[in-house]
Amino acid sequence: IPPDIQQMLEAHELLRKFYHHLLLNTKDGQHALDYLLTRGFTIESIEKFQIGYSLNSWDFVYKFLAKRKFSAEVMQKAGLIIQSEKDGSFFDRFRNRIMFPIFDQSGKTIAFSGRTLGDDDPKYLNSPETPIFNKSKILYNFHLARPQIKKLHHAVLFEGFADVISGDLAGVENGIATMGTSLTDDHIAALKRNTQSITICYDSDNAGIEAAFRAANLFSDAGCQVKVASMPDGLDPDDYIKQFGPEKFRHEVIEASSTLMTFKLQYFRRGKKLQDEGDRLLYIEEVLTEISRLENAVEKDYYLRQLAEEFSLSLEALKDQEKQINFSDR
Ligand code: ATP
Ligand code: MN
Ligand code: MN
Ligand code: MN
Repeated sequence: IPPDIQQMLEAHELLRKFYHHLLLNTKDGQHALDYLLTRGFTIESIEKFQIGYSLNSWDFVYKFLAKRKFSAEVMQKAGLIIQSEKDGSFFDRFRNRIMFPIFDQSGKTIAFSGRTLGDDDPKYLNSPETPIFNKSKILYNFHLARPQIKKLHHAVLFEGFADVISGDLAGVENGIATMGTSLTDDHIAALKRNTQSITICYDSDNAGIEAAFRAANLFSDAGCQVKVASMPDGLDPDDYIKQFGPEKFRHEVIEASSTLMTFKLQYFRRGKKLQDEGDRLLYIEEVLTEISRLENAVEKDYYLRQLAEEFSLSLEALKDQEKQINFSDR
């Protein structure tokens, strides 16, 4: 390992421990700890996920690391400090935030994500891309979830850190999340080395449902078996668990998740009034396009019959129409 990489990793390791200490054991971190406990985080999950707190200071990290002989160059390359364009001085990237360490597969701390305690923008501030951190490859909690994923032959993909942590507390220990970016082929490849079976459990808002549709298609195209969980409008998994409890989350959300086609049928119905002719025809067209992508003839037949029955259409006409659809573009 090149020396500067080694130093970046050491700096992250030191800071992870220090942020964690600040959160749990100091007066400065008390309001952050209160915030987390009020939200329903437990001390056990704060320990398990090594959550911390970054001080409300412009240069605490800079001085802390400089005292330990880390160069400003290394700190900056590691994304921990930022150089001011005005006067060239250095200041800390993360200030007064709840700190979520990001681990690589072997459990080394390679980045942080800091959540504001208030309404500051951005809500989550991530480390930038660095020589040790590549967002499009890293999945949050993969190092802890991996043994569970292998054991259960199944993974649950969430949208946010809080969802992974609440899910874990609710007994879903095979949960992971992307780092606020959309799912990439690299993420899928990393997962596929461990399981081909995924449940997507994204937020039940517009952005989450759109992202779930996209992610589900990517998994399916990669040959994975994918299911999609759904929750009442507007909730995310963390909200749901707080509101309805872990049992209900496991049984009525995760275990009750839909097959890909069922999810898509619901997805295409969104925002449509099926009693209106225009919407109804559009819906039928969208469903036929999906059916045309199915490779299994029995499945095709099953959904064509279902569609024919629901809208009192002739099966023959639907079959003809389905054959004409060009399914090359998605
Ligand atoms: P919380 O429950 O703490 O309010 P959340 O996870 O529900 O957070 P969402 O707005 O649903 O927050 O965002 C989902 C995920 O997207 C976050 O966990 C984070 O990883 C990422 N994210 C959200 N906002 C930002 C942002 N401004 N910049 C980068 N990543 C973000
Ligand atoms: Mn969201
Ligand atoms: Mn959310
Ligand atoms: Mn949330």
